[in-house]
Amino acid sequence: MSFIIMQDACIACGACREECPNDAVEPSGAAFRIIPEKCSECASCLENCPSGAIVED
Ligand code: SF4
Ligand code: SF4
Repeated sequence: MSFIIMQDACIACGACREECPNDAVEPSGAAFRIIPEKCSECASCLENCPSGAIVED
């Protein structure tokens, strides 16, 4: 399991990438994505996303 970024809702602000302790967020087209294998589900990104684009898978 992992957290996922809803591509349509992501405004590519980069906050999740800065907050992630596991370097599990990377750019993906016009948005960002979470690399499932690296995500520990700490929820730090979810709490800091200004657009509510991050949800539990
Ligand atoms: S839940 Fe935590 S480990 Fe997973 S992508 Fe978000 S900040 Fe990184
Ligand atoms: S914090 Fe939210 S809006 Fe910003 S890049 Fe991450 S998923 Fe996209």
